[in-house]
Amino acid sequence: MRILVADKFSSAGLAAIEQLGHPVIYNPDLSAEGLPAALAEERPEVLVVRSTEVREAAFAAGDRLSLVIRAGAGVNTIDLEAASRRGVFVSNCPGKNAIAVAELAMGLILALDRRICEATAELAAGSWNKKKYSKAEGVFGRRLGLIGFGAIGRELASRARAFGMRVSVFDPFVDAEYAAARKIEVLGQLDELLGKCDVVSVHVPYRESTRHMIGARELGLMKKGALLIHTSRGGVVDDLALAEAVKSGHVRAGLDVFEGEPDAGTAAFELPLRGVEGIYMTPHVGASTEQAADAIAAETVRIIKEFGERGSVPNVVNLVTDRTGLYNLVVRHLDRVGVLAGVLDALRRSQINVQEMSNVVFKGAEGAASATIVLENEPSAELLDEIRRDESVLAVDLRSR
Ligand code: NAD
Repeated sequence: MRILVADKFSSAGLAAIEQLGHPVIYNPDLSAEGLPAALAEERPEVLVVRSTEVREAAFAAGDRLSLVIRAGAGVNTIDLEAASRRGVFVSNCPGKNAIAVAELAMGLILALDRRICEATAELAAGSWNKKKYSKAEGVFGRRLGLIGFGAIGRELASRARAFGMRVSVFDPFVDAEYAAARKIEVLGQLDELLGKCDVVSVHVPYRESTRHMIGARELGLMKKGALLIHTSRGGVVDDLALAEAVKSGHVRAGLDVFEGEPDAGTAAFELPLRGVEGIYMTPHVGASTEQAADAIAAETVRIIKEFGERGSVPNVVNLVTDRTGLYNLVVRHLDRVGVLAGVLDALRRSQINVQEMSNVVFKGAEGAASATIVLENEPSAELLDEIRRDESVLAVDLRSR
């Protein structure tokens, strides 16, 4: 397989892909605009991206493209509809940068509490102001509220607990048992969390439904003097409303992500939060540690290896997983050429659509095999009898799912 890596990627990761026997085309400076031409010219089967957007035009140009791997957590930079229309798998590396983001969030909490940035700036300017900077509250015993309790939320919770913080979470899909085992309070309402916590940290994916989920109303519900930490995606928090809430002295904030932030590594950026005292900011570097890069590179290599050797795609995100009303047809058969073709031909003649298929082979010199075929409609008793009549078919079972 030819692999196009269209973003910065660790040299150890590139070497590991080549060791699998796949030629790598490494073009870390490709942009969303340049990607279609590169795909048309290089004709790779696999595309690896980090922040480079993969749009409709890229899928249209990549005539041999079978798999796009996002070497990171979210996939909102990839046009999943365009991928699915063309039967291109999309997968990602979830959770691999969770520790890095949690470390930055914890760093922002501690830095804001002690006002480390202002203190550094004053000292750098030659001013010793021990009086002003001796007034931190401390985080021990204070309550951290996590909005979204997935991979990053969990890593931050365990770090905050180590600092003696109490932790509450709001997440409609929370694993209550996991939370209870770690003495983490689960809240059913976002508003309750906002009103109760000293530090609120946002860890939800960006979607239409999460856009501006923290706006003026929600900021108003936070305790006076509370901290808002935002390391998820630009747009989940309403930046203009946050600037107002911080300017008014109601909250302070630590941010790694911004509405309209540049794609590029370096760029001018006129953000509304600029110059507002009480806001600490980093330029979307939450996931950017060497350790996280190595973990993501290793996961990307694993995905390519699985795909190359077995045709299966770990962490695939654009397959149907929740269809009901389907039937599992299990056909145990002699491991001979053409047996499954006969089964599929019988299904086709009855106009029954196959949704999924797998076949495993039993050990032994003249082994048998077992195929599981997921069907959209129920096959008739006559059709099952027809399949059983093939002398190479050992048994046929039908189960509804
Ligand atoms: P995750 O999928 O493991 O967890 C997200 C959690 O949010 C899930 O448990 C989900 O149930 C919950 N959730 C979804 N909608 C919600 C809602 N409306 N209210 C409350 N909870 C909701 O993802 P993760 O790995 O923890 O990452 C979280 C987000 O962090 C990502 O989606 C990404 O946008 C962002 N991120 C940022 C950086 C960075 O560099 N700053 C790096 C990686 C990820």
